[in-house]
Amino acid sequence: MPMEPICAPATPLLSSPVAIIRVSGDSLNRVLEPLAQLPKPRMAALRRLEWDGYSERALVLHFPAPHSYTGEDVVEFHLHGNSLLVRRFLEHLGGIGIRLAKPGEFTQRALLNGKQNLLDVEALKDLLDAATDTQIRQAQARLGGVPAWIREAKEKIAFWVARTEAAVDYGEDENISLDMGALKSEVTVLNETFHVEQRRSASARWLKDGVRVAIVGKPNAGKSTLFNALAGEERAIVTEIPGTTRDVIEVKCEWADLPLCLFDTAGLRHSDDPIERLGVARVDPILEQADYVLHLVPAPDSAPDPEILQRLAPYHEKVLIVRNKCDLAESDGIRVSAINGELEPLKQAFIRRFLGEFAPDACLGALATKRQCELLADLIQQMEMISTLSDSCPVELPASLLQGAWLLIMRLTGEDRADATLDALFSGFCLGK
Ligand code: GDP
Repeated sequence: MPMEPICAPATPLLSSPVAIIRVSGDSLNRVLEPLAQLPKPRMAALRRLEWDGYSERALVLHFPAPHSYTGEDVVEFHLHGNSLLVRRFLEHLGGIGIRLAKPGEFTQRALLNGKQNLLDVEALKDLLDAATDTQIRQAQARLGGVPAWIREAKEKIAFWVARTEAAVDYGEDENISLDMGALKSEVTVLNETFHVEQRRSASARWLKDGVRVAIVGKPNAGKSTLFNALAGEERAIVTEIPGTTRDVIEVKCEWADLPLCLFDTAGLRHSDDPIERLGVARVDPILEQADYVLHLVPAPDSAPDPEILQRLAPYHEKVLIVRNKCDLAESDGIRVSAINGELEPLKQAFIRRFLGEFAPDACLGALATKRQCELLADLIQQMEMISTLSDSCPVELPASLLQGAWLLIMRLTGEDRADATLDALFSGFCLGK
């Protein structure tokens, strides 16, 4: 099916040294003929582009199909980076039948033409959205093809799909029987790998999506000081008058390799001051959203404040009691001194909880999107159902479960194209990708 030509700026529409406009489609030699003679494949050449009274000397590159990003003919025009000039050029392209691409349409075509798999496309989106060094490295590691464990699993499942189907279709006539013992031991080995990958991806998801951290505690516990120590900058106001942090302050930072979204909350105590009360009222939604609630208790206090403990009770699974001001007094538990930046025990607690057995480097290349992780969970469940089949069950049962497993793997890599989540994915891309 011929693809209608599309165009989009590949660089932001800002005043900049160079602006790149990409065109993708079939037979671009012919389509672009009125504008410029295209250079030799993958060779940059200067061309004078003339349209509507504009005269622009531009660098032009030509990537003929199928050796291009989209798998179609792709042409790049490097113009001077003036946003009005770029808009006029795009209008002119529209006039010669090259419409503006929808967000993500270049990448969508790359997927349709088999130049990218869905895992790559999702990694690319995460790379473009990455805000921390770890997020960049994790996204880069996921680019570059389907991971080996998925390729191997796909091959093994395909083998067993063929085996069971042969047994269903010709079992009785040709005397083909299914070795359930062999199938089940293969499934056990595969599921072990899937479980490791699931744990790796749980850590990878925290590294990608970040951890929402609420810091709570009574006034003067050192919340703002800890907030600033974690954020690495003077963001919250630190003072010695109890109750100065009157509203919720939010900041994004990276700590223990994890992207953190920190919430500093007003002191969790009753107050007659209306502004401070407003802050207290805003704490609950934050406790709900938080992945980790740090209950800061000054070390000189013998025990955490019972009133605060009670308020935090509904969230106890994600509450960590942190003893601050350990430079002033001895105490048990996770001991820090926010004012001196002595936070190592807290860092270790974060690593244990969110990265578990996997250091960031051990998560490189792991599945990391919600869609991928849900499919992996479904796949594990499917395999577990095969494990529980009795050896004498009708062969149709493992055959249909294996078919299901096969489809899940195909959906994971996007080889099953009928996935409705795709439109949502592409619409989240910027224009020109
Ligand atoms: P908040 O009300 O919980 O936000 O508490 P602040 O962060 O404003 O801190 C209250 C006071 O405790 C300030 O004078 C801080 O300098 C001090 N403080 C905070 N953390 C520590 C610490 O680890 N050790 C000591 N000695 N003082 C601290």
